[in-house]
Amino acid sequence: MQTFFDFARPSDDLPLMREQLRAAFPGYLPHNIREPVGQLLKSMISSRTKDTVSLRSYEKLVRRYSSWPDLAEAPLAGIEEAIRDVTFAPEKAAHLKEALRLIALVSPEFDLSWLRQRPVSQALAWLETLPGVGRKVAAATLNFSTLAMPAFVADTHIIRVLGRFGIVGERADTVAVYDAVMSLAPHWTAHELSEFHVLIKQLGKTFCRFEQADCQLCPLSENCRFATSRLNARQVGVTRHRSPPA
Ligand code: SF4
Repeated sequence: MQTFFDFARPSDDLPLMREQLRAAFPGYLPHNIREPVGQLLKSMISSRTKDTVSLRSYEKLVRRYSSWPDLAEAPLAGIEEAIRDVTFAPEKAAHLKEALRLIALVSPEFDLSWLRQRPVSQALAWLETLPGVGRKVAAATLNFSTLAMPAFVADTHIIRVLGRFGIVGERADTVAVYDAVMSLAPHWTAHELSEFHVLIKQLGKTFCRFEQADCQLCPLSENCRFATSRLNARQVGVTRHRSPPA
């Protein structure tokens, strides 16, 4: 696993990125709309699936089973059918049902508000004991739900953008990105971390897409490692082109 210390980035990188992205993408709306179990389940079924598809599947699921106890008792086939449009629906349905069973053991009311009393690291660690829950899902449960705890959510867009920019190595994983952001912005609130997630994701869907980086249009290009190395490579190419033959 790659660590986040591959590049020495100054600690004011993230605040500067945030200011530039705020200017580029005004109108941030906070998450924090679902209770923790709802956010956990929504995040569990969201991986490798378009946001619109996973949201539609989640809404179908909670319409079909109107309480967490009902959902916990639901037949696996019914859960799988409700979320059939997401990727790996059979595996996700099984994880979801088992996660609810484990949650019921510590909280028969399916109330995870007790996590707020724990340090973020402990709350993450507990959530990550549930099947199908890695750092991204655990952090989303803490940060995006009504728990509103300071935990940064790193999805594929975030990993790609922060890798190209140089905050982490380009092959960094979710945990490395989480560690890097939490280390560089240790005092950011839950709201600020959530906003940063949304802003970086927006950049990843527009200027810094997987298949193409439009660096010349990007608000972060001045300090971006990828954009700088690309520019340097072009300048070297131009210089070589202009050099007289030996
Ligand atoms: S400058 Fe280019 S590589 Fe860097 S974040 Fe922007 S689009 Fe991505």
